[in-house]
Amino acid sequence: MKMKSRKQEFNFLLRFIIRTFAHMFRNIFILFILFTGFLLVSCQHKTVETKKMQLTVSIIPQKYLATFIAGDKFDVQAMQPIGSNHETYEPAPRDMEKISTSKLYLALGALDFEIAWLDRFKASNPAMTVINTSEGIQMISGHHHEDEEGDDHNHGIDPHTWLSPSCMKVQAANISKALSAIDTANASFYASTLTKFYLTADSVDRVIREKLSGSEGKSILIFHPSLAYFARDYNLIQISIEQDGKEPSPAYLSELVKTAKEKGITSIFISKEFDTRNAEVIAREIKGKVVVFDPMAENWAENMILLADLIAKN
Ligand SMILES: [Zn+2]
Repeated sequence: MKMKSRKQEFNFLLRFIIRTFAHMFRNIFILFILFTGFLLVSCQHKTVETKKMQLTVSIIPQKYLATFIAGDKFDVQAMQPIGSNHETYEPAPRDMEKISTSKLYLALGALDFEIAWLDRFKASNPAMTVINTSEGIQMISGHHHEDEEGDDHNHGIDPHTWLSPSCMKVQAANISKALSAIDTANASFYASTLTKFYLTADSVDRVIREKLSGSEGKSILIFHPSLAYFARDYNLIQISIEQDGKEPSPAYLSELVKTAKEKGITSIFISKEFDTRNAEVIAREIKGKVVVFDPMAENWAENMILLADLIAKN
């Protein structure tokens, strides 16, 4: 009898212990779930709080410069998607969404789509600061367009300022100034990244000059004339195949062939996103070759050196 009651006592104790532990573990489990949930919520809250400011540039190569100056302080996005043509691009609704979240818009200054759309960008986000990064550059005239109706769109300004280290330095200073005005607490940061960019641009310039030494005065036959600023910087002559921003006429093509033969030109430069057919016609006529380059590459410094290399070797 006594034995049995001890056994009962023991069983009771065991059940008590098991229940207590089960209870404890359940409570710990609930606490764990609650705590993880809390952590998740607070993390999300934190990402909302520390979300970076956004800025938008017009074209991909500007992204390199804006990111160089802004560092990790801003998210930089380009209006124009990769692979589209900067001469014919029109902003799509999904591109306009970039405007709605931007603190700052860095216009290149003379692109056709900027001339047509910049007012609409401003209207869709009146709080956004808009600056022309080419302010202070001695702009080259002669970028001429005619639309299908034959209307003359001579904006008079060549937009290809990004393909020149000296122009990029002016743009860098404008960007640094604009960022400092918006984010005054980090003004010294934007001054230091500007100094670093000057050093980068100067070393790119030095390498280009080394590669092009001996090429001074060289004529470059090019389909779309994007190298006016580059040619000005490095004493080259740009000859455009496009006629007033359009496909060349047969008469103009034969004139070009004559010029190329006279000057001993054997290469025709063409940007990646353009149709090569006309360039190939001329190449056959002058027994030369078509050289494709990418004016829109994102790694600007690397691309400028590549361009100098192509010009020196062709
Ligand atoms: Zn262009």
